[in-house]
Amino acid sequence: MDYFPVFFNLKGQDCLVVGAGEVAARKIELLSRAGAKITVIAHEISTTIATMQTSPPLTLKQTAFSPTDLRQFRLIVSATNDIATNALVAKTAKEQSIPVNVVDNPELSSFIFPAIVDRSPIVIAISSGGSAPVLARLLRAKIESVIPPAYGQLANLAEKLRDKVKQHIKIPLQRRIFWENVFQGTIAEQVFSGNDQNAEILLNQALNNYNDTIDNGEVYLIGAGPGSADLLTFRAMRLLQQADVVVYDRLVSPEIIDLARRDAEKIYVGKQRQNHSLPQVSINQLLADLAKAGKRVARLKGGDPFIFGRGGEEIETLMAQGIHFQVVPGITAASGCASYAGIPLTHRDHAQSCVFVTGHLKDDCVNLNWTQLALPNQTVVIYMGLVGLEQICQSLIEHGSPRELPIALIQQGTTNNQKVITGTLETLPVLIKNQSIKAPTLIIIGTVVSLHDKLKWFLAKPFS
Ligand code: SAH
Repeated sequence: MDYFPVFFNLKGQDCLVVGAGEVAARKIELLSRAGAKITVIAHEISTTIATMQTSPPLTLKQTAFSPTDLRQFRLIVSATNDIATNALVAKTAKEQSIPVNVVDNPELSSFIFPAIVDRSPIVIAISSGGSAPVLARLLRAKIESVIPPAYGQLANLAEKLRDKVKQHIKIPLQRRIFWENVFQGTIAEQVFSGNDQNAEILLNQALNNYNDTIDNGEVYLIGAGPGSADLLTFRAMRLLQQADVVVYDRLVSPEIIDLARRDAEKIYVGKQRQNHSLPQVSINQLLADLAKAGKRVARLKGGDPFIFGRGGEEIETLMAQGIHFQVVPGITAASGCASYAGIPLTHRDHAQSCVFVTGHLKDDCVNLNWTQLALPNQTVVIYMGLVGLEQICQSLIEHGSPRELPIALIQQGTTNNQKVITGTLETLPVLIKNQSIKAPTLIIIGTVVSLHDKLKWFLAKPFS
C-alpha cells in the first residue's frame, strides 16, 4: 500500500488553498463539504471562487504566497499553475509537518485526494495512488451506481437506534445478525424508497419483537425489461442481487437471471401460450409462502410488471397475507421495441396518443374495440398479437383503417436477435406467412411505423 487512507475531521479547521482557478475551486468545494474553514491565497481570484457560498465563508487573500502564511493551517492544497509557487508551498508545508497536496503532483504531495463517493455519513474513498486517477474515477462511478443515495439516511437511522439495539440485544453475534437483516431487508428498502418514518417504526417493531418471531421475508416484484440486461434499473439490479430466491418467467433472459446471487434458489414458473406451467394462483401463493419462510424473493417479470404482467394479482395476494413487497417498474416491451426499432410511439406529425392492447385470442377470437383502434392519429401497440395478426389487420380494415396503414412486427426486441419487419395492414400477414418467427413479438400499427426506415439505428439482423 503506497498511501494509507485516513479520514480527517476538518470541521472548523483552518485549511489553506493556494491558487484560485477552476482546479482550486474543485478542492475548495470538497474541503468545504467537510466543514473546513478555508483561506484562499492567490494573485487573482476567479469569479467562481469569489462568488462561492460556503459555510464557514471563505477568507480570500489576493496576494502572492509567502512561506510565513502557513503557520496556523492544518491542511494545505496548492493548486496554482506556477511550478515554483507549488514547490515552495510544498517545501514549507513539509518543513512544518503540515499535510500538503499539490494538485496533480504526487511527488510534491504528502497526501493525495481520493475519488469520493459521498453518502454521508458513509464516505468511500478510492485511490490509485496517483497512477491512474481516471480509473479511480471510473471505479467511483461504478460504486456510485450500486450504492443508492439513501445509504446515508440508512446510516443515520442506524446511528439513532444504535444504543437501543445494544441494550436490547446483548450478544454481539446476534446483534450483528440483527443489523445485517436491517441493512439488507425491508427496513433498508423502506429507507431507499423514501419512507424513513416507516423504516424507523419497523426497526422499533423488529427490536421489540426480537426473539419472539421469525422475521417474514419480502417480495420484490421486479420488471426485468424487454430482454437486454443493461436495460434493468439500478434498483432491479440491487434487489436481484440481494434476493435469496428468484422466481422468474419465460420472458426473462438468462443473462438477467445470471445477475442473481450465485447461491440464490431459482424457480421457473414460466408460461407459454396455451401451456401454463404453474397456474397464476399457485404462483401468487408460492411467493407468499417463500416470504413467510423468511426469504427475500425476487419475482422477475418480463417488461413491466403492471403492463400485461398480472403483477396486480400477485401483490393482492401478498397484501392480503400481510407480506411486505415492493414493485420495481421495468421498460415495457412497447417502449423497448419502439426505441430499438426507431419507431417513435408518438410524433407531432403522426400520432398524438398511443394505446397498448393485448391481441391474445379468446375462443379463437380477438375481441377489441375496433372502432376506437381504427381512429387516425394514434399508435396502436399490440402485445401477444402474432397468432391473431391476420384477424387484427382484417378487423381494422373493416372498421375504417386504410389498407396501406403501416404496421411493424418486432421479434425479440432490444436483444441481439431483434428483427423488424414492416408492411401494411394488407401486406404484413402475407409477408410473414413463410417466415420462421420466434417469440416474443410485438406489433406496432400507425403512420409512425413509416419512420422506421429513416430512424432505425440498432443493428438488427435482417429479417429472413
Ligand atoms: N409485462 C410485459 C408484457 C408481458 S406479455 C411488458 O411490459 O413488456 C408478453 C408479450 O410482451 C409478448 O407476447 C410480446 O408481445 C411482448 N414482449 C415482451 N418482450 C418482448 C420483446 N423483447 N420483443 C417483442 N415483444 C415482447
